[in-house]
Amino acid sequence: MTTAIYPGSFDPITNGHLDIVKRASSIFEKVILGVYDIPHKSLLFSVDERVELACKAIVDYKNVQVIAYSGITIEFARQAKAQVLVRGLRASSDFEREFEMALMNKKLAPDIELVCFMANLRYQFLSSSLLKEIITLGGNLDDMVPAHVSAALKKKLLP
Ligand code: ADP
Repeated sequence: MTTAIYPGSFDPITNGHLDIVKRASSIFEKVILGVYDIPHKSLLFSVDERVELACKAIVDYKNVQVIAYSGITIEFARQAKAQVLVRGLRASSDFEREFEMALMNKKLAPDIELVCFMANLRYQFLSSSLLKEIITLGGNLDDMVPAHVSAALKKKLLP
């Protein structure tokens, strides 16, 4: 049985992330969406809120689980007994950073394999930070996030 972890800040989870979850869950027997708490990164949602939003979004995927973690991702993967680390790549914007992290992770944990999914063309442009900007400017998030995420963003960002 292959277990994969899909780590990220998921602040909040978007349809781009969910597309990766769907594809990973059809390949691996178990997928753990790891929500990491990064105190030095400015986040809109608390770790509990991000976990709750992600849990609601993945409810239809029976082999997907959401777990919060802190500390080094590779340690979290080990604790979860995962053999694979999943990441999503959008056009050129993610590649250099992901490549750098992949090399470091490989050095720290040669037994854990990285599998990158190319972002779906529909979601190439989609980032959590752009969503926050769109909501603040009164834009429509249909087809970018699940309805409960859109409601949570509005509640947080709109007066
Ligand atoms: P991080 O803080 O680790 O970048 P994110 O929550 O922004 O966390 O992203 C988690 C993972 O999902 C990363 O591998 C990122 O490249 C990927 N990702 C983010 N947005 C999209 C998208 N629209 N389509 C596909 N993958 C995405």
